[in-house]
Amino acid sequence: MCVPGCQEVVHRALSRRRVLGAAAAFAATAGALSPALAAPRPFKKVVDLTHTMSADFPTFDGTPGIEMQKVFDLKKDGYNLYRWSLIEHSGTHLDAPIHFSESGIAVEQIPAEVLAVPLAVIDVADKAAQDPDYQLSRADIAAWERRHGRLPANACVAMNSGWAKRVSDKTKYVGKDAAGVMHFPGFSPDAVAWLLKERKVAGLAVDTLSLDHGASKDFKTHVSWLGAGRWGLENVAGLDNVPAAGAMLMVGLAKVKGATGGPTRLFALV
Ligand SMILES: [Zn+2]
Repeated sequence: MCVPGCQEVVHRALSRRRVLGAAAAFAATAGALSPALAAPRPFKKVVDLTHTMSADFPTFDGTPGIEMQKVFDLKKDGYNLYRWSLIEHSGTHLDAPIHFSESGIAVEQIPAEVLAVPLAVIDVADKAAQDPDYQLSRADIAAWERRHGRLPANACVAMNSGWAKRVSDKTKYVGKDAAGVMHFPGFSPDAVAWLLKERKVAGLAVDTLSLDHGASKDFKTHVSWLGAGRWGLENVAGLDNVPAAGAMLMVGLAKVKGATGGPTRLFALV
């Protein structure tokens, strides 16, 4: 028997205890996060932040991210079934810490609690329209915090550069120049170093092909962020359809042992 409000309090206490336990395990494994979970909150709609994946979807190295071979056919065999040949890092996808870190954890070791997180969206679309090599800066984060308050613990910080609108035009999305150098926005290593030191953020998300800007040669953002046990999301869709603050992000992906990443289905609860 529980008085009104009691069940919610008990649920929160239990969730928090569960989360702190899982977070401690994650921190021990990854040497990273100790997230405090935001309390469950009501939501009005679910926004899909996922691009449809196909062999045509732009990829970092230009080869198809997925190839599908029909193994069984409904008319002939009684059911339909494909075999996929898949590059882990294609379409809307997650980078696990092990992608850029020898001791980093793989996909199946990431606790569910750090894949259901507050979403903070930083809009740099105007700047990126002027400069395709734009790197989201500490000043952009400071401007977001002036409007919306401190970044919530265990958040995903997403860059909205306007690039998702280019996805149907591979040339514009990848931005390769005559020398073969790609041009699209990303997170600056300096901003990422500040986030690692000053805030407790679970993940980064970009609406481009890479956490690092396209022209990067050293992948400094990948190295420091994933190396610190955090995860990243790339080729995120629909960030125009969610508020800058207040949504929850649900990251769903197949729990494949040893995987360095994988295609995700992303939902924002708004
Ligand atoms: Zn990736």
